[in-house]
Amino acid sequence: MKQSILFPKTLKEAPKDAQSINHKLLVRAGFIDQLMTGSWTLLPMGIRVLNKINNIIREEMNSIGAQEVLMPLMHPKNIWNETGRWDSAKEVMYQFKDSRDKEFTLSFTHEEILLDLIRKNLKTYRDLPIALYHFSTKFRNELRAKSGILRGREFLMKDLYSVHSSQKDFWDFYEKVKIAYSKIFEKIGLTFKITEAAGGVFTKNITHEFQVISPAGEDTIYYCPKCDWGQNNEIFEGKKGEVCPKCKKGKILEAKSIEVGNIFPFGTWYSERMKVYFTDKDGGKKPVYFGSYGFGTTRLIGTWVEVSHDKKGIIWNREISPFDVHLIGIDKKGENIYKKLKEEGIDVLFDDRDVSAGEKFKDADLIGIPVRLVVSTKTKDLIEYKERTSEEIEVLPFDKILKKLNR
Ligand code: ATP
Ligand code: MG
Repeated sequence: MKQSILFPKTLKEAPKDAQSINHKLLVRAGFIDQLMTGSWTLLPMGIRVLNKINNIIREEMNSIGAQEVLMPLMHPKNIWNETGRWDSAKEVMYQFKDSRDKEFTLSFTHEEILLDLIRKNLKTYRDLPIALYHFSTKFRNELRAKSGILRGREFLMKDLYSVHSSQKDFWDFYEKVKIAYSKIFEKIGLTFKITEAAGGVFTKNITHEFQVISPAGEDTIYYCPKCDWGQNNEIFEGKKGEVCPKCKKGKILEAKSIEVGNIFPFGTWYSERMKVYFTDKDGGKKPVYFGSYGFGTTRLIGTWVEVSHDKKGIIWNREISPFDVHLIGIDKKGENIYKKLKEEGIDVLFDDRDVSAGEKFKDADLIGIPVRLVVSTKTKDLIEYKERTSEEIEVLPFDKILKKLNR
């Protein structure tokens, strides 16, 4: 992609109303644009990052046997009434009437919609388990939408739902999801903590949250540095500094953190209310065991920027960077290297613009692609190689550059 045509151009200043780091940097660098409070356009580079994240998630979801679907965003009132959530979750839902006075809501989550789909297609225990997920939009009437894309009123989530014929099968799958989520964080390269939490408007069970420690977070978590014990502040009853109740070795630490994922065991609460029954081996009709598993994909982009930036801009890694390399052409050079890199299957952002070298370097640091290459009259047939996280510049021939890029 040539930077001369990339939409939009970078901004020198952050928007006046921007308070959080992710808001300032993602807008300035041209990844997102705000329509109104809590409502964002993902610009071409933002979509590139999202697609990479989604592909990592998709791989892990498929590997535990989940199947991808896409459910509607506008839902009829009657389905939400079956569980009572039309009223109990009214405050977060965007409910409205159409011109015929029929009532609807925009999706704030999909448990009821998924269970309606399941009950129409479920007969016996042989049909179970079923695990379905989608990447889609959620609408929530968030009162505090001030943290950039960490908290939108319209945002993107991957949500997975599973139904099972027995409690044991359910819990086996729940553990598989925990492992799959952990793998997603590891692949993306984000350090995380799993914390026990309350279920909020969703369930009275203990749930598990996937938290990323950051001062930008709205949550407070307590965790042990020596083992995997963790709880959020809704359920933590001890004091920080106390000995960890699990390993009895570490001392409990407190930190601000961002909740990126949350998994919920619901038992049969939903399926009883929505009459999602199957015929078991003994011929009896039984309600399915149900769980849901959310992962905030746009929140993850914001989280990444909160934990990976410096004074100059964003610092992406290979896994989720919008491009593999940022090639900077000076003195109208670079076209040839751009073509050769593309032929090698490398995803290049080529700064071919007619602006000063200084401006190009500043933008490269702001956008934050992990590798910067520079060609100019000075470098002749060689290429300057620099990583975003290092000050060291190496001057190398093309084949050595390819090696550096692991090609
Ligand atoms: P929070 O406690 O931050 O309000 P939540 O517990 O209501 O979030 P869930 O319903 O568990 O969120 O949704 C699953 C995931 O969706 C969250 O872990 C988070 O990553 C993401 N998410 C939730 N609300 C928002 C939002 N307003 N904007 C962006 N992402 C969100
Ligand atoms: Mg939550």
